Amino acid sequence: MKIMMWNIRGAASKSTIRTLKELQNQKKPDLTILVETKCSGNKGREVIKAMGFNHAIVEEAVGFVGGIWILWKNDDLKIKVMSTHKQFVHMKIENNQRRTWSLMAEINASLLNMKVADAVLENGEWNLEFLRELIPEDKILKITACHPPKESLGEDKIMWSPSEDRNFTVASAYKTLSQANENQDQTWNLIWKWKGPQRIKCFMWLATQNKLMTSERRQKIFGANPNCHRCPNNPETLLHTLRDCTEASRIWRQLVKPSHITTFYRAPFETWIRWNLTVEIGANAQPWLKREERDNHPETIIRSISQLIQRDWNVKLCHTYREGNKSADWLAKESLQACLGFHFIDTMPTGLRNIIDDDARGVSLPRFIIDF
Ligand SMILES: [Zn+2]
Repeated sequence: MKIMMWNIRGAASKSTIRTLKELQNQKKPDLTILVETKCSGNKGREVIKAMGFNHAIVEEAVGFVGGIWILWKNDDLKIKVMSTHKQFVHMKIENNQRRTWSLMAEINASLLNMKVADAVLENGEWNLEFLRELIPEDKILKITACHPPKESLGEDKIMWSPSEDRNFTVASAYKTLSQANENQDQTWNLIWKWKGPQRIKCFMWLATQNKLMTSERRQKIFGANPNCHRCPNNPETLLHTLRDCTEASRIWRQLVKPSHITTFYRAPFETWIRWNLTVEIGANAQPWLKREERDNHPETIIRSISQLIQRDWNVKLCHTYREGNKSADWLAKESLQACLGFHFIDTMPTGLRNIIDDDARGVSLPRFIIDF
């Protein structure tokens, strides 16, 4: 649909009528809206006829001020006026294919200058039809919960709604602002109370603050490629890296209960993190248990030792026969039966005491080495 709108600043002069006719021939608009026509009554009707229109909606000018004309030629165009005001005409348009539009023709950004009273009908009730065209239903519910303005209720005053006495206080402003952050606080508390390694807590917190350097974020800063290097057609967002990427998803699908899979993949990021921390979503711990068993294997321990040696420090390795330091040998063997993690032994185990006592008494344990 083609609409021509012109702030004409006086429609009655012959030259204006001629210019408008020329524009009509060139642009062929379906609807022409003229504002600030500055003429009204019979004079206005004559001008409209001279312009060649056979349909018109007119919000009359007050003397020589304002005036809005909605003009069209096509008989198939049906226009219903929803509400009018000296500064705007609000209408519903339907064409011959039964498509509808809502249109507001206005002067001087009238909505900005509108008063609450303009949304009230003559009978004192809210003009709901008018409000529904402008604002969403949830806001209308809030508006209708208030009384429409009435002169008998006194003059309008500016008030601060968070305070009970409607006067502004810093405390109430602080309270309102902290409530706004409540969701984030909840996430923070969940991460803080989560029983797991500190570095993973930090990682989760950075993720919720969107501080992880994903390709998408890097692109915003440095203009690099925003896509994931594993699945090149997808931008590497936070959720992609942690959940949706084919590699991450392969692991999640082994861990998350099938009944939770749909919700798991649909949740937005923050909800997803909170959900992970509060709901029991795991299918079984089997894959990780196997890993733990493997971690106890001497081969894994030797690999860990060699990795530790390669760190940036000086390490001196000395070889001594197990009989040369029987206590260390005993502790090493004992550790194979203990669960994974750091163990602090604060009382001497009986097995170790005997070895130390023997040592103190000077018991020698020669080792027979057979040389071939
Ligand atoms: Zn990916």
